[in-house]
Amino acid sequence: MTIVDSPERRQLRELTRAFVTREVLPHLDDWERAGEVPRSLHETAAKIGLLGIGFPESVGGSGGDLLDSIVVTEEIIRSGGSSGLVAALFTHGIALPHMVAAGNDDLIDRYVRPTLAGTMIGALAITEPDGGSDVAGIRTFALLDGDHYVVNGSKTYITSGLRADFVTTAVCTVLPGSGALSLLVIEKGTPGFTVGRRLEKLGWHCSDTAELSFVDVRVPVANRIGPEDTGFLAIMQQFATERLSLATQAYATAQRCVELTTRWCRDRSTFGRPLASRQLVQHRLAEMHTRAEAARAYVHDVAARVARPLQLGASTAAPRPGAVAGQPVVTEVAMAKNVAVAACDWVVDQALQLHGGFGYLRDAEVERHYRDARILGIGGGTTEIMNAIIAKGMGL
Ligand SMILES: Cc1cc2nc3c(=O)[nH]c(=O)nc-3n(C[C@H](O)[C@H](O)[C@H](O)COP(=O)(O)OP(=O)(O)OC[C@H]3O[C@@H](n4cnc5c(N)ncnc54)[C@H](O)[C@@H]3O)c2cc1C
Repeated sequence: MTIVDSPERRQLRELTRAFVTREVLPHLDDWERAGEVPRSLHETAAKIGLLGIGFPESVGGSGGDLLDSIVVTEEIIRSGGSSGLVAALFTHGIALPHMVAAGNDDLIDRYVRPTLAGTMIGALAITEPDGGSDVAGIRTFALLDGDHYVVNGSKTYITSGLRADFVTTAVCTVLPGSGALSLLVIEKGTPGFTVGRRLEKLGWHCSDTAELSFVDVRVPVANRIGPEDTGFLAIMQQFATERLSLATQAYATAQRCVELTTRWCRDRSTFGRPLASRQLVQHRLAEMHTRAEAARAYVHDVAARVARPLQLGASTAAPRPGAVAGQPVVTEVAMAKNVAVAACDWVVDQALQLHGGFGYLRDAEVERHYRDARILGIGGGTTEIMNAIIAKGMGL
């Protein structure tokens, strides 16, 4: 029994597992080769209510909170899916929350509802070629001209950037690099907005990643999320859920690798005995299991403190920088991400090693997890940036 166990959440696990078994596993290798998941998968996931988990019904979601989203992420990976699949199918988890929190009905109707219905795809563009860690240093500039902004700049490493119909884009509205940020929803097809080449990656092969360029792109002021220059705070507030999602992907990947490797070590014999009969191997598996479970317990604990339904007007309910739902959990979120990523990095490495040569082949599921895991300590704020946050929380 864990913090996320309840009859409803067990049902949610079963729903997710059935979805992965039926709709994902037969095709995942093809999507890895194609470099993206099909749009139809979004509609299928929406129809059974999976896409809208964690979003209130009032904006077209299925209800539930962060812990329900965590259950879905855990179960996708533990059923044989992957963190890359989570990134591709649930990009709306980072593209929409700012709009929901700002509570603008027009933006909710135009972008949130269709995305949660699976008919639109959204992306979030913060990172720029000059740097991603220093969010306040964003240089993509939006100059106010009547009832439009004129946007110039570029973004890179944008998840679902190739497929996205709209991009929640962080722009600077005062002086480039000043930290006065706003969020604009920029639609694909707007003149001057071009999507660059598909970026080839170490892992997350089924998740498309793109560079975006903006040259004199006219974006209606009506597409601004919240008041001008409140973007930095909005980004920081939503980072908590993104980081906990990445932490979940990390420990769930570790757990999946423990399961796969335990099975492998029972089946594989060397020198006339199953690998799993050797004390050295047993202890290695025990340590892998322990690290994965400890990370899971800690992430659940922090997530329970952050959890709240994403409600309309929530941004006004939690206005303090670094505070989510009234709790100063930013430091704990950073620690949770680092703990889970460290566990994952070590476990995937051990898992591949225990699989021997087979672990190095594309045919081995652990090979994909080994490659996919490497981004988790980079995306959503690197391990070093998490440490900077933790140090600040310690008063250093
Ligand atoms: C597959 C993938 C998907 C992504 N998806 C998205 C997305 O959808 N949207 C989006 O906006 N971004 C996305 N990113 C970008 C990601 O968030 C950034 O790569 C990340 O924040 C790091 O930024 P950077 O790559 O510019 O590294 P940099 O900021 O240049 O940092 C380089 C290195 O220096 C370290 N470093 C930086 N500053 C300090 C410091 N002060 N002290 C110590 N060390 C420091 C960093 O930890 C890192 O190790 C994605 C990236 C990848 C690879």
